[in-house]
Amino acid sequence: MRYISSRGNYPEIGISEAITTGMVPRGGLFLPENIPEMNFSFLLHTNDYREIGYRVLEPYFCHGEKHFTEEELRSSLEVAYRSTNFDTPEIAPVTVLSNNIGILELWHGPTAAFKDMALQILPHWLVIAKKKLNQKTVTIILVATSGDTGKAALEGFKNIPGTEIYVFFPDEGVSLVQKLQMLTTEGVNTRVIAVEGNFDDCQTMVKEIFANQDFKSKLATRQYKLSSANSINWGRLAPQIVYYVWGYVQLIRKLGLGIGHEIDVVVPTGNFGNILAAYYAKRMGLPIRRLICASNQNNVLTDFLRTGVYDRQRPFYKTYSPSMDILISSNLERFLAEVTKHNFLKIQNWYMELQQQGRFKVDSTTLAAIREVMSGYWTSEVQTLETIREVYHKENYLLDPHTAVAYHGLKQYWEDEEKKVPTLICSTASPFKFNGAIYQALFESEPPADEFAAIERIVEYTHLEPHRAVKTLQGKVVLHRDHIQPSEGLSYLEKKLFSKKHIRLKKPSHS
Ligand SMILES: *Cc1c(COP(=O)(O)O)cnc(C)c1O
Repeated sequence: MRYISSRGNYPEIGISEAITTGMVPRGGLFLPENIPEMNFSFLLHTNDYREIGYRVLEPYFCHGEKHFTEEELRSSLEVAYRSTNFDTPEIAPVTVLSNNIGILELWHGPTAAFKDMALQILPHWLVIAKKKLNQKTVTIILVATSGDTGKAALEGFKNIPGTEIYVFFPDEGVSLVQKLQMLTTEGVNTRVIAVEGNFDDCQTMVKEIFANQDFKSKLATRQYKLSSANSINWGRLAPQIVYYVWGYVQLIRKLGLGIGHEIDVVVPTGNFGNILAAYYAKRMGLPIRRLICASNQNNVLTDFLRTGVYDRQRPFYKTYSPSMDILISSNLERFLAEVTKHNFLKIQNWYMELQQQGRFKVDSTTLAAIREVMSGYWTSEVQTLETIREVYHKENYLLDPHTAVAYHGLKQYWEDEEKKVPTLICSTASPFKFNGAIYQALFESEPPADEFAAIERIVEYTHLEPHRAVKTLQGKVVLHRDHIQPSEGLSYLEKKLFSKKHIRLKKPSHS
């Protein structure tokens, strides 16, 4: 398999280079040159997450220049998705609710974040890819996080040889549970830094560091190379295709239907990575009828899917589903490249317009191609809490706010679509990661200031067991205490990386 740039501005490369390079240096994202079609009848004979993973990923990884061997792909899947790493051997279990709805739970990984599904395997692939390319550099992973990605990236890269990870988070912008999860991270190559500012400040800071050529050349002379762990990397997207195939077969079996039966898929969407993976699964031949893109009040994608106009110039809302509070959905670019059949010129023009004017409009042919496969709905804050409450009482199932947005999106879709088919809803977070909103939904009153008190009350009421990543937090030792201003990111890194005292891959001394 060869990988091409969504803007046609880079040579075709193999899988190892796509993974180590991350984003196309001159702008654009790597995508596979073609989408392999697959005969899914193998699903009749296997019910093992890793085996399904191997079948789905083999065409993307085991062919072409500097490709992975079958053994390398298999063993990385074995390590990442071993049952002790996830809290269930099913890895991503499907719970069936009424109306043939299956909830695909993607949060059973070590940090209780959906991001674990990809970040548990990407670091292993990075090590393999660097070896193939004979890269001796130390990879510096920089992450700006609004909460969940930070911890998932830290756990994924913890103690991975040849990498160091720096996570920057907004000091006042994450929940207590999320903050504690990050600050108690162990590992010899991890650093977590509180930034005095909001998520945008963190993100802008990290982007500026990435764009700083002077800093990058200084790094290069010292055998360092910057990289990112977010979903612009193909190596983060590919593992997400697997759980759609897995989820499909679980739902079909639980409903007593045959392989080949059509389903719809609903995805709570932010950066568009998750739903794009569903699109690739559909293109590979998985019987998915329609993809439903669910948004919260930051409904830039809903508008786009209805009108063909992508306009990021709009107010930004902080919602109960913060991982979807996003106005620029990076992976939409890959989707547009696919639906235009790799019309690089169109992509270039649209993204130039987005950069210069903050908006672009696709042509009617493209819009028709998009609407052929995808619908968009958005859900308000009030509706989000109502949905959590209603589903809890009707189904005895506790949705987190992101999944509630998806559930409510499906309800709206069913008002428009007469012929219902079984539906898989992606559940992207454990409810115990968003306790304030859950508390408000269940008890219709303000949550206590202490998040752990809210958890206790929710447990008492629902008799649910919080994920072990949340349960074991109290009593863990805070290991990271660095705190900076948004303007200090670069000097912080220079100090840490270039000072003589910095000893690679030894336990960092926290001042
Ligand atoms: C990251 C995330 C999303 C959004 O996924 P995208 O792939 O960015 O669209 C939704 N919900 C939760 C809980 C997340 O962490």
